[in-house]
Amino acid sequence: MIIVIIGAQWGDEGKGKVVDLLADRFDIVARYQGGHNAGHSVYVGEKAFVLRLLPSGIIHEDKTCVLGNGMVIDPKAFFEEVDQMTEQGISITPERLKISSRAHLILPYHRALDHTSEERLGNEKVGTTLRGIGPAYEDKAGRRGIRVSDALVPELLKSRIERNLAEANRVIVLYGREPLRSDEIFDEISVLAERLRPFVTETTHFLSEAKKANKKILLEGAQATLLDVDHGTYPFVTSSNPTAGGAAVGAGIPPHHITGVLGIVRTYATRVGEGPFPTEMLDEEEETANLIRQRGNEYGSVTRRPRRCGWFDAVATRYAAELNGFDSVALTKLDVLDALEEIKVCIGYEIDGERIETFPAVSQDLEKIKPIYERLEGWKSETVGITKVEDLPTKARLYVEFLSNSIGVEIGLISTGPERDQTILSLNSVMESWFK
Ligand code: GDP
Repeated sequence: MIIVIIGAQWGDEGKGKVVDLLADRFDIVARYQGGHNAGHSVYVGEKAFVLRLLPSGIIHEDKTCVLGNGMVIDPKAFFEEVDQMTEQGISITPERLKISSRAHLILPYHRALDHTSEERLGNEKVGTTLRGIGPAYEDKAGRRGIRVSDALVPELLKSRIERNLAEANRVIVLYGREPLRSDEIFDEISVLAERLRPFVTETTHFLSEAKKANKKILLEGAQATLLDVDHGTYPFVTSSNPTAGGAAVGAGIPPHHITGVLGIVRTYATRVGEGPFPTEMLDEEEETANLIRQRGNEYGSVTRRPRRCGWFDAVATRYAAELNGFDSVALTKLDVLDALEEIKVCIGYEIDGERIETFPAVSQDLEKIKPIYERLEGWKSETVGITKVEDLPTKARLYVEFLSNSIGVEIGLISTGPERDQTILSLNSVMESWFK
């Protein structure tokens, strides 16, 4: 059984919590794209874990985790995270963490290039996390990237760093920054590569054997659907494919081995960084945005950047459902809306006076969108920690049903707080069939 879990909106839907909650039902948790630009916050009792590169499953000591070939890995950031987790009492050994030999490395010059690339774009900058992820993917597509397996051969690592840095330094200097030294990079990375060696695995074979042995595998998407480099709000997107198709490529598994896809949908929307956001709460809705930001702790888990907040966008989420083929949805953060008098849901778009029902490809069009809203009454009472659908206020239930109908997918889990047990787990028949 292989299940993909993907954020349906612009990220931070609360995947971390859902994956952590469902991890018990799986043997292996794998990531398939992105790097340490992801940020999941998981709360277990008194402990708070912030995961960037490692899958959320790592918190469960009996799970094996995989960093797939579709990822880009900064070895320094990787060991910082491993050391941090070890300090918090989580043991991370090569037995329970496998890194694909085909994943690409993020090197110090990628970080420098991330800065220069954003400077070059000026007003059109993407608002990246400046961690070198985009430039590492550029090198991958440009066929000059350095893979984990290359780093294990010192002569190869050395010559590749020298070749790539000669080019990178030209750009770095052009933007008035200090050139980097290839001997320093090699000295740093070769030591880290040796530390990586025991974790390096042929992960396609590992996952294939696991499937044959009837192991249950969870593929954990980072970022989210509308940030997909092909399908998102291009160019304001991430540089990889978080969507379900990307899971097969990035984990190195046959697409038809995927049993099902679970979409993580939040009861409202947020976005970090630049780019179109049709339902953003602006001007007179600033106060509502602040309230949601506070109640929902809507600040980047890695960067602490305040997230832009907006209403639920059924057009965008329906698009995510079509694109990923959501079999079921986990709805998060219902409790955050407890305080609202009225809740708006965007049910259609109008561009230049014309009504459209589909999500447009062009970001200029997205900027022009006038959302068409349905207004629903708020329930104005506490739902924090509720664990049964019957205990929800009627208006909250109506809101949940409205969202489910508007995207055309059944909801199998409702999250009513950040803790594991603050959850309504009313598995629908699809999810029951996965976990039977
Ligand atoms: P992810 O990247 O999609 O995992 O999202 P993050 O973990 O960065 O952000 C989600 C934040 O919301 C975290 O602080 C979670 O603990 C928190 N969270 C998740 N689910 C809920 C929920 O149902 N209610 C509330 N109030 N907070 C939640």
